[in-house]
Amino acid sequence: MIEATEERERAHHYDAIIVGAGHNGLVTAAYLARAGLHTLLLEARAAVGGTAASERFAGATVNICNCDHLTFRTTPVTEDLDLARFGLRYLDVDPAQVATAWSGGPEWAQYRDIEQTIEELARTHPGEVDGYRRYVRAAVPAARLILDAAQEPPSAAGLTRLALRRRLVGVPAIARWSRRSAADVLGEHFTHPAVLGPGLVAGPMVWGVSPHTPRTGLGAITYALRHVGRLGRPTGGSGALTEALRRSFLHHGGELRTSCPVEAISCRADRVSGVVLADGSEVTSPIVVSACDPRRTFVRWLRSPPAAAARLLSRWQAKRPGDGYESKIDAVVSRLPRWRGSAHDLGSTMIVAPSVDEMHRAAALLPAGGVLERPALLMNVPSIADPSLAPAGHHVFSLEVLLTPYRRPGAGPAHRSRTAGWSWWRRGWSRGSLTRSSPGDPSRRISTSATSTCLTVTPRASPAGRWLPCATPIPS
Ligand SMILES: Cc1cc2nc3c(=O)[nH]c(=O)nc-3n(C[C@H](O)[C@H](O)[C@H](O)COP(=O)(O)OP(=O)(O)OC[C@H]3O[C@@H](n4cnc5c(N)ncnc54)[C@H](O)[C@@H]3O)c2cc1C
Repeated sequence: MIEATEERERAHHYDAIIVGAGHNGLVTAAYLARAGLHTLLLEARAAVGGTAASERFAGATVNICNCDHLTFRTTPVTEDLDLARFGLRYLDVDPAQVATAWSGGPEWAQYRDIEQTIEELARTHPGEVDGYRRYVRAAVPAARLILDAAQEPPSAAGLTRLALRRRLVGVPAIARWSRRSAADVLGEHFTHPAVLGPGLVAGPMVWGVSPHTPRTGLGAITYALRHVGRLGRPTGGSGALTEALRRSFLHHGGELRTSCPVEAISCRADRVSGVVLADGSEVTSPIVVSACDPRRTFVRWLRSPPAAAARLLSRWQAKRPGDGYESKIDAVVSRLPRWRGSAHDLGSTMIVAPSVDEMHRAAALLPAGGVLERPALLMNVPSIADPSLAPAGHHVFSLEVLLTPYRRPGAGPAHRSRTAGWSWWRRGWSRGSLTRSSPGDPSRRISTSATSTCLTVTPRASPAGRWLPCATPIPS
C-alpha cells in the first residue's frame, strides 16, 4: 500500500521537468538525468527533435532544418553524453559552403583552412583577398572567444576572467562590431556581392532581419566560425543527433512523454511548482525548464507568477509574437540538380545572395507578404555525402528560401499562395527532373515547371505545431 502511494507520487512529482524535446530540451534533460535527477521531458509532438528532427518522405530522409551543424560540434556535449555510443556519427563537410550572388560574378568555395580559402579567393575574386585577410585577423579571435564563452554559464565575472586569460584578444572586434550593423562591418572588408552578400545571408538574414539592422554586427562572424569550427552533418540526417540525445536521456533514467503538450506552468509562493498538461492533470517539480518559444512561455503559460518576475514579464508582453520567415522545400530527385553554370555540385551548401539593398528590401516586404523576385537561397543535396538518405538512384534536394512570409495578410498560415516572385525557380535551374511522390503520399504535391516534372513539398510543422509556409513555384 505504502509502495503504491510512493509509486503514484513518483509519477506526479519530479526533480526537474523539461518542456519541449527539441535539440535544446533534449540536451538539458539528458544532462540533468545524467546528474541523477528524476527528470521528465514533455513533448507536444509524437516524436522528439523539434526543428532539428528528420522525417521520412517519399522513401527518403529529409531534415526540417538545413542540417549544417557547426557550433554544436564546438561543445563537449557529444563526449559528455556519450552520443557516439547512441549512434551519432558526423560526416565532415569541406568546403563548408559555396558562395555566389544573383548578380553573377564567380562563385567561391569557403574551406575550413584559411589559406586554402584565400587561394580560392585569389583565383576567383583577387580584389577581395586583402579584405579577407583583415577580416580573418579580426573575426577569428572574436569567434574563438564567443565559442569559449558559450561553454560556461554566462556571468560578467566569468566573461571578464576569460577575456583576461586571452589577454583581451578578440575583445576589440566584439566590442566594436556588436554596436554596428552587419552590413557596415562586412562592408568595411568586402565589395563584391558574391563575397559580401553570402556573409550577410548566413548572418542577420537567417535571423529574419535586414543586414542594416543596428547591433547585428556580430552576425558578421559567420565566415570566421567556419574556420574555427568543423562543419558537418550527422550520418542518417539531423534527426540522428536528436535520436542519440533521446537514447542518452533514457539510458540515464529519464522519462519521456510524447504527444503531451504543456498548457501552463504553475507557480506557488514565489516559486515555480510544476506544469499543467492538456488533460488538466498537474505534474509537480521545483525545477521547470521551458525549451520552447520564450514569449509563449512567459506570456501564455506562466500562472500566478511571482511579483519579482513582473518586469521580465512586461518586457515579453511588449514584444510582438514572431512568425516564421523562411521556407524549406525538400524534393526527391532522379537527377542531380545543379545551379546553372556552377562548377560545384551541391554537396556543400550553396548560398545565393541578393544585393545588400535587396536584402534590406526583403525585410521591408515581409510584413506585407511580399518576397523578392530573387530571394536569398541556401541549397544542398545531402545525399551526395550520405547516400543512405535517398532511395536507390535518387537524391534528396534541400532548398531554403529567405525571407518568405509565414502568411499573407488575411490568409491562414497554411495558405499556399503564389506570393510575389517565385519565378526565380523557373529561371534558376538547369534541366533536371524531379520525381513524383508515391500516390497517396500525405505530403502536398505541387506544380510543374519548365525545369521540373513535379516537386513535392513536405508540409512543415513548426515547433508551435503550426505549419511553416511552403514555397510554391509557379506552374508553367
Ligand atoms: C529551415 C531551418 C534551417 C535551419 N538550418 C540550420 C542549420 O543548418 N544549422 C543549425 O545549426 N541550425 C539550423 N537551424 C536552426 C536549428 O534547427 C534550431 O535552432 C534548433 O533546432 C532549435 O532547437 P530548440 O530545441 O531550441 O527548439 P525547437 O526545435 O523549436 O524545439 C521546441 C520543441 O518544443 C515542442 N513544444 C512546443 N510547444 C510545446 C508544448 N506546449 N508542450 C510540449 N512541447 C512543446 C515542439 O514540438 C518542439 O519539439 C535551422 C532552422 C530552420 C527552421
